[in-house]
Amino acid sequence: MFNEEEFNKLKENALKRHIPIIMDDTLEKIKEVLKKENPNRILEIGTAVGYSALCFARYSENAIIDTIEIDEERYNEAIQNLEKIGFKDRINLILGNAVDIIPTLKNKYDIIFIDAAKSKYSIFLEEALKLINNNGLILADNVLYKGYVMSDYNKHKQRTAVRHLREYIKEITENEKMETEILDIGDGLAITRVKL
Ligand code: SAH
Ligand code: MG
Repeated sequence: MFNEEEFNKLKENALKRHIPIIMDDTLEKIKEVLKKENPNRILEIGTAVGYSALCFARYSENAIIDTIEIDEERYNEAIQNLEKIGFKDRINLILGNAVDIIPTLKNKYDIIFIDAAKSKYSIFLEEALKLINNNGLILADNVLYKGYVMSDYNKHKQRTAVRHLREYIKEITENEKMETEILDIGDGLAITRVKL
């Protein structure tokens, strides 16, 4: 079951409340990736209210999506959204800090989508590498952080996040086992193919 009307409402509502759901051009790229890769299993770090997880389910043939959210209210909202919209059978919502949860996961993934605390991207990457299948893709959203990552003036508020995102970019571009493309779409999307 998929309730498109409720899905559209969820998107409008999330935007109105400034919940940072993936942007439309990022989604277009993700759709392309899903079509090409035809993944069996996807891990998402940062569910928020379930919008992107629902997109992964909607635009893949039959992928199972495990998705982690640290905020209990958002997790509960995501549960309700799946009730209303669908794909309950293909999306597993997990409540907790991804830093603690990921090491307990038993599955391997074809795609891992990082879209949570920017200062933890390198930790997420390290953990993701233990769970990714050979030739799998690690996608990271918000890597250009409104352009701050590419500018030399950053306000105190953004400085830590910028430092961590630059560290993440350095890791994915310098590691010989990885092939990375950084796209200036949405808030910046990094696509990294991992050769184990
Ligand atoms: N992927 C969602 C948006 C995620 S917003 C979409 O596009 O629809 C980022 C989310 O990551 C927030 O809801 C935040 O609570 C969550 N988050 C931040 N740090 C986290 C962590 N360490 N573990 C799990 N979730 C985290
Ligand atoms: Mg994002």
